[in-house]
Amino acid sequence: MSKRIALIAHDNMKPTIIEWCQTNKELLSHHFLCGTGTTAGLINKNTGLPVKAYLSGPLGGDQQIGSLVAGGEIDIIIFFSDPLTAMPHDPDVKALLRIAQVYDIPMAINKATADCVLDSL
Ligand code: PGA
Repeated sequence: MSKRIALIAHDNMKPTIIEWCQTNKELLSHHFLCGTGTTAGLINKNTGLPVKAYLSGPLGGDQQIGSLVAGGEIDIIIFFSDPLTAMPHDPDVKALLRIAQVYDIPMAINKATADCVLDSL
């Protein structure tokens, strides 16, 4: 069954999410993909997968994804966050984590978990 997957990566993690999407391109192509602005654009450019782009994370993209979760429009979040860099939009990241918990949405914050989530589909 097709899932609605949100893809987000902080700047230092963008190469990781691009490589992960390239590796899993065939599987991902069966699902609806969306993401924060820069991440969505880079994944599309590097894989050819269609990814609906919302605003860039620091400009409200994470909050837009959170709103979709609250509206029941997202099934899975893949969020490769940067564990070593302070972010100006850290409150938005925390808010997205919280809303994913509230609505019991699988949210993978690293490649190992993302692999598990994808394997489960
Ligand atoms: P970006 O946003 O995909 O627009 O870079 C991600 C983030 O920093 O939350």
